[in-house]
Amino acid sequence: MFTAKYSLLLHPIDADYFLAHQDLIQHLNNIGLLGQARSETRFDVGEQFLSYFCFMGCSPNIELEPQENDQPYCYINIPQPSLQVQSIISKNVKLPRCLHCKAEQSQLVRQLVEQYQNEVICPECSHTFSPNKVNWRKTAVFAKTWIEVGNIYEAEAIPNAQFLTQLEEATQTQWKYAYIRF
Ligand SMILES: [Zn+2]
Repeated sequence: MFTAKYSLLLHPIDADYFLAHQDLIQHLNNIGLLGQARSETRFDVGEQFLSYFCFMGCSPNIELEPQENDQPYCYINIPQPSLQVQSIISKNVKLPRCLHCKAEQSQLVRQLVEQYQNEVICPECSHTFSPNKVNWRKTAVFAKTWIEVGNIYEAEAIPNAQFLTQLEEATQTQWKYAYIRF
């Protein structure tokens, strides 16, 4: 089965938000995001997919169904939720800056890859802040529950307001998104 190296991840703004796997699948089925299930976590894109994402440039060359010989295609992956907040940091992460002194937080990335922490300390000015509050410019995700749209390059597709609103209404929480290279 093809596994994407570039994905769009949708995740709750509240890193602590937790939703049972089957409940999230049910909500996403109801709004037409999911098509055929290929495994417990992997789905083809559903009938509403193209109306929920704005594709930039000439992309709808993009394949939306499994291809022969494990060739790339776009799919939805819904991992089992995690009891602890997970750090998912893109290979091409854009380093965030301290909210207080603006120093780039390169150590923070290494710390968070090892384990998510609710509060971190800036090595320059000793100011404490939540990793979820600094600006990673859509290159890091901190979440217990998330949705992966596989095989989307940086900014190749953007979830539209209609979709984000429907997702919020279905799950009773606000969502945002990031582009992750694995
Ligand atoms: Zn600082």
